[in-house]
Amino acid sequence: MHRVYLDNNATTPLLAEVREAMLPYFSGHFGNASSIHHHGQETRAAVESARESVAHLLGCNASEVIFTSGGTEADNLALTGLVKAGDHVITSSVEHSAVLQTAKHLGDIGCEATVLPVDARSLIDPESVRRALRQNTRLISVMMANNETGIVEPVEEIGKIAAEAGILFHTDAVQAAAKVPIDVTRIGCHALSISGHKIHAPQGVGALYVRKGIEIRPLLYGGRHERSRRAGTENVPGIVGLGKAAQLAKQAFDRGDDKKMAAMRDRLQQGILSQAEDVVVNGDGASRVPNTTNIRFDGIEGEALVIALDLKGLAVSTGAACSSGAIEPSHVLIAMGLTSAQARASIRFSLGKQTTEEDIDFALALVPETVARLRELSPVYRRMALR
Ligand code: PLP
Repeated sequence: MHRVYLDNNATTPLLAEVREAMLPYFSGHFGNASSIHHHGQETRAAVESARESVAHLLGCNASEVIFTSGGTEADNLALTGLVKAGDHVITSSVEHSAVLQTAKHLGDIGCEATVLPVDARSLIDPESVRRALRQNTRLISVMMANNETGIVEPVEEIGKIAAEAGILFHTDAVQAAAKVPIDVTRIGCHALSISGHKIHAPQGVGALYVRKGIEIRPLLYGGRHERSRRAGTENVPGIVGLGKAAQLAKQAFDRGDDKKMAAMRDRLQQGILSQAEDVVVNGDGASRVPNTTNIRFDGIEGEALVIALDLKGLAVSTGAACSSGAIEPSHVLIAMGLTSAQARASIRFSLGKQTTEEDIDFALALVPETVARLRELSPVYRRMALR
């Protein structure tokens, strides 16, 4: 069966060049990067070269990059490692659960978190961040790009507020990396998270940028790996893959691949809007990463559409989470003011480097027709149409 994958915000396929770069580190180059003999030196050099590539992508120094097991660990490390008991943290209601759940547990270490609301486009108002500042605020954590809508948050403005107030700023850039250029100095952040598997590197590797001079308490204690900021023998093949993907991402920006991707995403979105009725782009009008569109098909169940499309070979997703056997609508769409039914009727399409114009044609041939068929079966939609 012909299959097209438009769920790259969930995970991306490994690029061939990334796989090639990693392969030697599964066999011939097997040394422990902490060993002083030839084998260790070989892998140490590969880890440090990957660190340089990641630093180049983020606009920082290699010594400011800590390798982790992924975006979740990077977010946890930032949120818990930059605060101490008695501190106050500000974050937003549209963060990934890696940030929101960590914020929820900050109470366990004697900290308090304020979770700020967003507007209808999922944007956080920088002034609301300023208003939420307290005497004991130590950290602001606001994501750079949202995983469900692709909306880019005003991180530079928030960075300025943090600088004026003399407090720390962390941004989760897991969905921004390799999609929009990142420069940690321009953002004004002190910490920034990325994840390998969202940028065509493997799952299970990520990194946290931490500005030079900022003390961070580790999550994991043990050896002196990563300058004593993250103990544990390095995942060398994963790190090599992340470094290669970062290098390729940088080259892709220079070629203007992001603009080509935005054009493909726009063609998909326009095609759907022009062929289906009662369709709304969630977050329309706000600045977005080039690969994502989140579309609401009123009157249908998103899960049913995802399954119907999957049966025909197209992989997309809803932002819904399954908890205790029930399908919870996306917290991001609810925070934007959608009703539960509207949130459940929304689908995320996310392109990757492997996406072709033919893939977009395939999706355009399937989506409007499948939506129309599901609506024919939907009493909810028929009732809406009568109104
Ligand atoms: N932050 C955002 C915005 C994400 O989209 C994700 C993954 O979906 C994560 C963090 C977690 O990253 P990882 O899957 O590498 O743990």
